[in-house]
Amino acid sequence: MVPFKRREVNEISVDRRNVLDRKGVKFVQTVALRVDPDEKIVYTEKGEMPYDQLVIATGPKVNFDVAPGVREHACYIGTPTGAMEAREKLEEFKKDPGPIVIGATQEAGCMGAAYEFLFNMEKWLREQDIRKKVDLYWVTPETYLGHFGIDGMPLGESMLKGFMKMFHIHYRTNVAIKEVTKDGVYLSNGEFIVSKFKMLMPPFRGVDFVTNSPKLEALPNGFIDVLPSYRHKKYPNVWVAGLAVQVAPPFEKGAVPFAVPKTGYPSDETGKIVAENIVRTIKGETKLKEKTWGEIPGVCIMDAGKKEVIILSNHLFKPRSIAIMLPNVIWDFGKVLLEKYFLWKLRNGYAQLP
Ligand SMILES: Cc1cc2nc3c(=O)[nH]c(=O)nc-3n(C[C@H](O)[C@H](O)[C@H](O)COP(=O)(O)OP(=O)(O)OC[C@H]3O[C@@H](n4cnc5c(N)ncnc54)[C@H](O)[C@@H]3O)c2cc1C
Repeated sequence: MVPFKRREVNEISVDRRNVLDRKGVKFVQTVALRVDPDEKIVYTEKGEMPYDQLVIATGPKVNFDVAPGVREHACYIGTPTGAMEAREKLEEFKKDPGPIVIGATQEAGCMGAAYEFLFNMEKWLREQDIRKKVDLYWVTPETYLGHFGIDGMPLGESMLKGFMKMFHIHYRTNVAIKEVTKDGVYLSNGEFIVSKFKMLMPPFRGVDFVTNSPKLEALPNGFIDVLPSYRHKKYPNVWVAGLAVQVAPPFEKGAVPFAVPKTGYPSDETGKIVAENIVRTIKGETKLKEKTWGEIPGVCIMDAGKKEVIILSNHLFKPRSIAIMLPNVIWDFGKVLLEKYFLWKLRNGYAQLP
């Protein structure tokens, strides 16, 4: 929404200090450098912090080095700075429009956000009255449209194919990015797509704090494998929540590798499971709450450019007994409502709510 000026960064940023103060949480804004789990000390830019229980919820580091030129020539909309850069580039682009490439690179898992950007772009081009001057391309490592790293949803592929046809979007599945240059994108299928604007979702890795802490025994991708209680396999007082958790793909790999999506709802759920389990541990209880990532329900509304697709399932991964994709091509009322609800919840610290 920020690249297309539908939201300003300050409208979707929430200062958590007030809420943390109210809840009696001492907040220290600093960078955690590494942890020694034997000594039970986190080393930070503001000194050493000893702990009894440690929660690692450090999210991702973006791997812009996945292919040459991704860092230099493609936009990334996952940070406020990246979103604002994309906005500036689009202002320039408007003056001299041409082909656009949007997509996800090999090994990426956050395809949903890139699909959202694609459909928002299509809508924006029409609003700017330049749609006819733009060839719009979608490139993805997915084996089929709407795989999303969860092996799809019922009718998802045909729905997305319908959207691509309806909005005249060219697409390539099962492709990796070989190189991005100022003038276009080289794909693993040998194709070069000329483009004046590119937005690619690269893969995520674990952050430096994790990779600089060898005793955590993170996987080569920097994510940490945990028990179904989100407890560290070796250190019982270390817990991991959100994107930092290692999640193995529950599907057959295609020719081009890609990963599972680690979206907001499961990130939130794993945080709650960890909080509950720390309380149980402190109380001396031995039975912990357990739910693997794939067993968490799928709850998501895909923004499709002032339209939306509601995605609901009882489990994120197959087997599922409930799995629904509901398009709303008239307006994005649900997504906007969810956004307002989520910001209200964050501003007030109502963590007990879903
Ligand atoms: C463009 C985009 C769109 C998305 N859209 C959706 C969507 O519509 N719906 C949805 O469900 N999900 C969406 N997601 C995914 C969602 O953002 C993530 O699932 C969620 O933010 C993960 O939460 P987290 O707490 O694990 O990590 P984060 O939200 O990344 O939080 C990690 C925090 O740790 C801090 N940190 C990291 N390292 C250190 C360190 N060394 N020291 C101190 N602090 C550190 C970071 O600064 C950050 O504040 C989207 C993601 C992207 C990139």
